[in-house]
Amino acid sequence: TLPTPEAHLRAVAEIVEHRSQGEAEFLQSVHEVLGTLTPVLAEHPDFIEAGILDRLVEPERQLIFRVPWTDDDNRVRVNRGFRVQFNSALGPFKGGLRFHPTVNLSVIKFLGFEQIFKNALTSQRIGAGKGGSDFDPSGKSDAEVMRFCQSFMMELVHHIGEDTDVPAGDIGVGAREIGYLFGQYRRITQRYESGVFTGKGVGWGGAEGRTEATGYGAVFFAEEMLQRAGRGIEGLRAVVSGSGNVATYAIEKIHQLGGTAITASDSSGYIVDEAGIDLALLKQIKEVERARISEYAERRSGSHFVAGGSVWDVPGQVALPCATQNELNEDHARKLVAGGVLAVAEGANMPTTPAGIEIFQQAGVLFGPGKAANAGGVATSALEMSQNAARSRWDREKSESRLHDIMRDVHEASYVASERYGRPGDYVLGANSAAFVTVAQAMLEQGVI
Ligand code: GLU
Repeated sequence: TLPTPEAHLRAVAEIVEHRSQGEAEFLQSVHEVLGTLTPVLAEHPDFIEAGILDRLVEPERQLIFRVPWTDDDNRVRVNRGFRVQFNSALGPFKGGLRFHPTVNLSVIKFLGFEQIFKNALTSQRIGAGKGGSDFDPSGKSDAEVMRFCQSFMMELVHHIGEDTDVPAGDIGVGAREIGYLFGQYRRITQRYESGVFTGKGVGWGGAEGRTEATGYGAVFFAEEMLQRAGRGIEGLRAVVSGSGNVATYAIEKIHQLGGTAITASDSSGYIVDEAGIDLALLKQIKEVERARISEYAERRSGSHFVAGGSVWDVPGQVALPCATQNELNEDHARKLVAGGVLAVAEGANMPTTPAGIEIFQQAGVLFGPGKAANAGGVATSALEMSQNAARSRWDREKSESRLHDIMRDVHEASYVASERYGRPGDYVLGANSAAFVTVAQAMLEQGVI
């Protein structure tokens, strides 16, 4: 006889906890998903019988490698490189590379695990992986970043390919790094395999709108949630954390839809600009000069910089956490609720702690989890892969309209699943179950592998 859904979920959780001791972020992301799957398993005993979850929580392959490079003073430096190939039931492994000092196996595994569900929700044919390094690009010269990327690729080249594993960017990996990585891949393999990376420069195979896609998509998702509740972003104040490409283009889209984004942040603190963030200035400081966000307040009258502290102290009707994992905790959530927040859409991966999510949901705040809300980036990556395969190139208008359609579909699929499994409007439950059913069905049909 089969175990009950509850007993099965407990057994899977125990195995993961045993195998992944000390991997706090990974365990957090697994528990968050397992906590929502009881009704799906009740409907699908075949998923229990086929051991879908037992297999889903174990990556297909995990790589850890040494990355030696020399800095500008000719000193040898060593970083650790990772690529976790989590699940390829729906397509080649797909997911970004993160270069940040906080990167470790737990962080890469949580990101890779989230990617399974996110990628499934896009309805594109992509599996899930994630990689990166504890290398810190900030403060490094272009030449140092290039040498690091070239060394990183000396190992990664053995594991990727347009039909096997397709990396892209994430924190610390943007157009510059993708360029160096792709260049080295092309040199080693002697093949112009455009589809092996996404997020490439638009002049050499990159998709129009890929840079903007994650931020735009998160705002489209927030707009969809608000519209179902009978209103829109127009006229609302939005608080945004982060100042990378997700935050920047979230701010841009909020303004285009008639809202006002009044904050941005980095690791040194945050800025408040009640008139609405001046995007040209923000881009100049963060993208061109790679300087601190406090510079913004120096150059823009009417705005101010707050050192340290939390951007979530600023009230707004829409909140878009676009910085990093666990940046928004229960105290922050309580403050936002007290300040009248209506909708939260996660531009970053797992930015809200479990206790924070609980507070939002109990207060009736519309909450769009990252797996759904930030799927626009990887969705546009899949569109880039299609264009590369067809040796074609879409214009900006077509790219953005496809992104918009995909985000509407992601929202719809999540909402419909939330209804089906008994909690209409619970997008955490909805996104997890819709995605899980898609991946589980594919795994079931492909046999025990
Ligand atoms: N790093 C992004 C994410 O978290 C994009 C991944 C990709 O485009 O492959 O989804």
